[in-house]
Amino acid sequence: MKKITVAIDGYSSCGKSTFAKILADYAGYVYVDTGAMYRAIALYVLTHCPSQDSAERTEWIKHNLTDDIPLTGLGDTIRTLEVGNLASQVAVIPEVRHFLVRKQQQMGLAGGVVMDGRDIGTVVFPKAELKIFLTARPEVRAMRRFKELEGKGTPQPFEDVLRDVNDRDYRDTHREESPLRQAEDAIVLDNSDMEIPEQVTYLTKLLDEAVAKKNA
Ligand code: C5P
Repeated sequence: MKKITVAIDGYSSCGKSTFAKILADYAGYVYVDTGAMYRAIALYVLTHCPSQDSAERTEWIKHNLTDDIPLTGLGDTIRTLEVGNLASQVAVIPEVRHFLVRKQQQMGLAGGVVMDGRDIGTVVFPKAELKIFLTARPEVRAMRRFKELEGKGTPQPFEDVLRDVNDRDYRDTHREESPLRQAEDAIVLDNSDMEIPEQVTYLTKLLDEAVAKKNA
């Protein structure tokens, strides 16, 4: 049975990682969370870069992008608002994107991966057999993130979370280097008013169809 590549892109807090994990388990594929890689670089900057000035930080990152930066196994340390916010700032730096995109492409060389991010269907795997673009209203996404932070014992005011969602959307869609956009051949799913099981049924069906087509 030939394996396919599944690209899941979309706005922050749309449940991309939830569905990517479920699909990977369902198909027996490898799940790759590319947001975690941008977050890992952000955490590295926070803990190692001597400057807090944005221009100086950018220069520092460009000179310190090496395989010494741990990209996995960082657990919840990368799941804070601070790291997420800085991740979307380092993600505008072309050198950072090239560095990570190369790694992501290597991880998916043999197929059989479900990768989630912002540029998977457009830049990392433009030939992916199944591309899904997830979206939901900003207030709905902010409420999901708000509850998640509360559940983790690190609550933040709703207004702050909503502002963060809007800021990140803006940066993700307006950066020059591979901005977040829907690939022409992506299937769009607005899940503002959908429950998880309904989406799982829909997405696993899409996956089954894409695998069947590949093996026809
Ligand atoms: O998905 P997550 O919120 O963990 O991603 C953190 C940030 O990393 C995003 O806000 C986005 O700016 C950036 N990112 C990206 N390209 C990806 C994955 C994440 O620019 N493929």
